[in-house]
Amino acid sequence: MKKPLIAGNWKMFKTADEAVSLAQGIKAGTYKNQDALVVVCPPFTALHAVCKVLQGSNVSVGAQNMHPETEGAFTGEISPAMIKDLGCRYVILGHSERRQFFHESDTFVNEKVKTALKYSLIPIVCVGETLAQREAQSHLTVVKNQFDVSLADLGKEDILKCVIAYEPVWAIGTGKTATPEQAEQMHAYIRRLLTEKFGAEVSAKIYILYGGSVKPDNIAILIEKPNVDGALVGGASLKTESFCAIVDGATEKCSAGAK
Ligand code: PEP
Repeated sequence: MKKPLIAGNWKMFKTADEAVSLAQGIKAGTYKNQDALVVVCPPFTALHAVCKVLQGSNVSVGAQNMHPETEGAFTGEISPAMIKDLGCRYVILGHSERRQFFHESDTFVNEKVKTALKYSLIPIVCVGETLAQREAQSHLTVVKNQFDVSLADLGKEDILKCVIAYEPVWAIGTGKTATPEQAEQMHAYIRRLLTEKFGAEVSAKIYILYGGSVKPDNIAILIEKPNVDGALVGGASLKTESFCAIVDGATEKCSAGAK
């Protein structure tokens, strides 16, 4: 059984001081919990301070994005070497807000995934369909294309170092969660794609997170689904109480042998 992985995406919220107090709260709220993998992804401006606060704790730090090049004339961008140097272990790649507002393509996401792996960063690769795509019944095809291109050219050793997050765009920040059945259908489909490409043994080890309006009161019914290994949490990760309640909720359900 895998420990649940709960990652908080703080998006463009929190000054450095605010981020430090949130990180301190989460560190205190999770220090006894050895049964979950906990990750927080603050904005770039707070990474240094949050990495210092969380050094040696149960909570790992991730960045929300990075450029695929190691260095160069890319004004305003941040490289994998830079985030690694600060102490980050994870990096979110291909979030739907990056795709939607910054026109990031699956090919660009794939370049980032490959460089992240070179720097021993664990990419959290996001996939997910829009409402129009779901209504047109094309959600499986859309996610398959994102999967195929974003994870192209990876071998078994590479994919074992990746996390996949299924985030239906219509559920992000809207308060509309996918039903546990909708989430499980897509997670099982992604698991099947992983099995076809990398074999059952590798596929079973890969974390597939669900993201989209996860809250303390819905984590239990999501995490009990067999292919939901954790959650990528936006809004509810911005408060210590709600984020720690999600971590505890997921841990209790998994420790109770619900899956
Ligand atoms: C996200 O931004 O990855 C996300 C899932 O946001 P929210 O939990 O607010 O829907």
